[in-house]
Amino acid sequence: MLVGSFIQSSCNTNIALAHSYHRRQPTSDLIRGPSKGKWTSPVHPSRSFVSSSGFLKDKKLGLLFSHSRSRNTQRPLIVVCQDSFDYDVAIIGAGVGGHGAALHAVANGLKTCIFEAQDIGGTCVNRGCVPSKALLSSARRIRELRDRHHLRSLGVDVADVAVDIQAVAGHAQGLANRVQKNLGNSLKALGVEVIHSRAKVKSSQLVELANGETIRARDIILAPGSVPFVPPGIQVDNKTVFTSDQALKLEWLPSWIAIIGSGYIGLEFSDVYSSLGTEVTFVEALPNLIPGFDPEISRAAHRLLIQSRPIDYYTRSLATKVIPGQPVQVVLSDADTRVVSRELQVDAVLVATGRKPNTENLGLDDDDANLGIKLARGGFIPTNEYMQVIRGGEDQVVVPHLYCIGDANGKMMLAHAASMQGISAIENIMGNRHSVNHRAIPAACFTHPEIAYVGWTEPQARQEASQQGFPLEKSIAHFRANSKALAEMEAEGMAKILFNAQTGELLGCHIIGIHASDLIQEAANAIANQTSVYDLSYCVHTHPTLSEVLDEAFKDAKRKMLSRNIR
Ligand code: FAD
Repeated sequence: MLVGSFIQSSCNTNIALAHSYHRRQPTSDLIRGPSKGKWTSPVHPSRSFVSSSGFLKDKKLGLLFSHSRSRNTQRPLIVVCQDSFDYDVAIIGAGVGGHGAALHAVANGLKTCIFEAQDIGGTCVNRGCVPSKALLSSARRIRELRDRHHLRSLGVDVADVAVDIQAVAGHAQGLANRVQKNLGNSLKALGVEVIHSRAKVKSSQLVELANGETIRARDIILAPGSVPFVPPGIQVDNKTVFTSDQALKLEWLPSWIAIIGSGYIGLEFSDVYSSLGTEVTFVEALPNLIPGFDPEISRAAHRLLIQSRPIDYYTRSLATKVIPGQPVQVVLSDADTRVVSRELQVDAVLVATGRKPNTENLGLDDDDANLGIKLARGGFIPTNEYMQVIRGGEDQVVVPHLYCIGDANGKMMLAHAASMQGISAIENIMGNRHSVNHRAIPAACFTHPEIAYVGWTEPQARQEASQQGFPLEKSIAHFRANSKALAEMEAEGMAKILFNAQTGELLGCHIIGIHASDLIQEAANAIANQTSVYDLSYCVHTHPTLSEVLDEAFKDAKRKMLSRNIR
């Protein structure tokens, strides 16, 4: 490999990549032109393009040139003889994280391949976001149509509502297939080489396929995602005891289901099952249901999504033994003392106790790979803010050329976070130092009504305020004061914003109510762009729309700031 010198003769025809747009080193010392240190640009307009990071790239020669727009000149950066690498970037895992990374890589002219052992689109498309939202879409309509009182108030009367479970499941599967196909097509259309094989890391620049073949890549991105975590003592038979992977297939409808775990996945399934007439019992290890959300929102969710439905629950309880069968035997133990507290016999159990990184057989701990990586707690791949894999434990040393994105690094186990991390990894591979602001990434739970949030919860914000010494304020607006929500007759819920009362910086936003998942984006963008609540209060919101709920909260925030004489 030649780096940092002008490449001639034997290597000339192989010049394919100016790798070190990577490091943005001064170019003049590194590359001298053919005559008297002057470079005559070989870039031909018809085969060149400006990459998204502002570099002009020659498609044929593959050289990258720093492009001076003002002088309209180009100078090559470090030139690397590519023949020692098969790809610039190899991505292991074609979930949404890998897909996002691949698309950004090819958009920047990197020769890219992606390995997928199972289904293109990974969890999100095949066993997660996409099919679950399809089920929830059916659930919403069933719940609405069966709520005769609600419909009569809107002047609508419907006869009995029949539900075809197979058709509901078919809708979810059909959608997953369609999105999977779209994703696969987009990869191929853009020139990403899709390799259908399990892959493992042999070294930080070498990948081994299932058939023993190896592929050399300048940089490797690990995007292996996650799989359901099943606590010890629980036997999964995929018939009466199952995880979300199986539940999404909706093969049969139990009369009574115990859902172990009341996080967002358990909560969304409780919405689906209860709409279909199944009784639900939550088993939750923590003192309160719906943990992880802002406590005030959790309490509202408890009222709207649990109390008003055929749902009961055991908190501070661990399902220490679950034996499949008809009925399923469930042994609950006190979460603190581990003493058996009760036994349940239910028709089915959904295990929704979180997810674990899919790092088995990835080669990270193989002796011959010699990467020295110590997996973090829970098996996550230790990764720094630039998505570079680090050795882990006390050792923060970066493993060169190895990146990890998505669920497997445990930073934020959400589809859009995985995708953004993929983009970020590519930026860093190209030498554009980039880190993701995870505090500006929103999250949503697609129950009815929905829950969504971005930024700090109130307890987190209070802690930061007392540590950093700034005044914290909150403003709450209610859907019951919103004309559109009232017109829809879905006026339950609220939006709460947390802000620095001195600067107006938006620190967190938490919404429960109709279309919360769409409404949260305004707050997420404000956090990302550091727009103050004061400025937000002057943004005009369409009337009558649900967005006016947030408008109310921003205006209340402005009043609170003005009352402190601060602008
Ligand atoms: P994955 O999507 O898990 O993809 C990893 C891919 O890598 C897989 O296809 C796997 O086969 C492949 N792979 C692994 N190892 C190898 C290997 N060695 N060689 C080759 N290929 C390999 N998130 C949201 O943002 N919104 C939602 O509404 C939402 N709903 C969800 C609902 C459910 C029921 C579940 C389970 C998850 C949901 N999520 C949601 C989470 C979301 O699905 C994940 O955060 C996201 O899929 C993570 O993407 P990823 O690319 O990191 O991994």
